[in-house]
Amino acid sequence: MIYYGKQSISEGDIQNVIDVLRSAFITQGPMIERFEGKVADYCGAKYAVAVTNATSALHIACLAANLGDGDCLWTSPVTFVASANCGRYCGANVDFVDINPKTYNMDALALEKKLRESKKDGRLPKVVIPVHLAGQACDMKKIRKLSEEEGFSVIEDASHALGADYLNKKVGSCEFSDMTVFSFHPVKIITTGEGGMILTNNAETYEKLKMLRSHGITRNSSDMTKDSDGPWYYQQVELGFNYRMTDIQAALGYSQMDRLDEFIRRRRYLAKRYGELLKGLPLKTPYVPNYANPSWHIYVIRIDFDKVKKTKKQIFEEMREKGIALNLHYIPVHTQPYYEKLGHKPGDCPESIRYYEEALTLPLYYDLTDEEQNYVAEALRDVLS
Ligand SMILES: *Cc1c(COP(=O)(O)O)cnc(C)c1O
Repeated sequence: MIYYGKQSISEGDIQNVIDVLRSAFITQGPMIERFEGKVADYCGAKYAVAVTNATSALHIACLAANLGDGDCLWTSPVTFVASANCGRYCGANVDFVDINPKTYNMDALALEKKLRESKKDGRLPKVVIPVHLAGQACDMKKIRKLSEEEGFSVIEDASHALGADYLNKKVGSCEFSDMTVFSFHPVKIITTGEGGMILTNNAETYEKLKMLRSHGITRNSSDMTKDSDGPWYYQQVELGFNYRMTDIQAALGYSQMDRLDEFIRRRRYLAKRYGELLKGLPLKTPYVPNYANPSWHIYVIRIDFDKVKKTKKQIFEEMREKGIALNLHYIPVHTQPYYEKLGHKPGDCPESIRYYEEALTLPLYYDLTDEEQNYVAEALRDVLS
């Protein structure tokens, strides 16, 4: 069976993990900072904080942006539920900004319009989370301009976008945001098993994130509210969590970072090749705006199912019989029962519903061979004809 995504682990990756297992520290050791430094350098950001996964990264990023009870967080409906749930963890209300029909990312014009309307009722968001779907950057310059005008924080959900470029800079540079979050789940661009990271250029945010990652505890006397009792002393100054990554995971991530450019090169090659292999079929391949050079975490096509006279379910099943497991990223979050109960209606984001009706994810990962890709394209041609 060919799946939509999977990790690539080399012998070098394995050796790096073994080295940590034989060392004195398997957690809270030196690998965490080395991994953080490597990702921050690669992306061109000042600071990085490694955590257990991107979900916990989004959670403490929201807390570091002072999101709290009764505040508003806005995100895209076409994302994994975690991009919205992080707001709920903080007691905030979550709302959704519809997608652009071409890029499938949060539409900057829809955001602008929604801001104008919300301003009238004094319901401006405190945090906006643009999601770089498929590893294609959002229109960050425009979003940043709006954030400066209206005073909200921008947290990029770049779970798909490690290694992607925006205006010839790496996503994660935080040039147009307050923080950027990455995921290292096995299907993502690089993996640590489970894992995530937050990047920022703000020293205060960085200190806050580190504290929230580890119980709200500090050993830094300048952050303490009363005098230290001695060298053993630490203070809990706020309510934090245990969201720490282990050194075992960081060793894998550190080693995978050496392979990142190679991963991206291959993904870009495969994406370009899909464009050629799928020519002439009744489907839409991805549109890429000038400012973006995606990392291609996923490859999404859109099919007009009325035209091909088959349902999406039929196509899924026929492809599965041929040994290909398609996927769908994503079910619009505002249509999930949990969010419907909070008052969201499908019609709130009509473009995301149209997307959901037509979108399919084809297999794309580093170890997918040219032959396997040919087979996927041929199978799709069969099924659609
Ligand atoms: C995978 C993913 C997450 C969550 O990542 P975890 O590391 O599994 O917590 C969040 N947002 C998006 C867009 C994702 O794809």
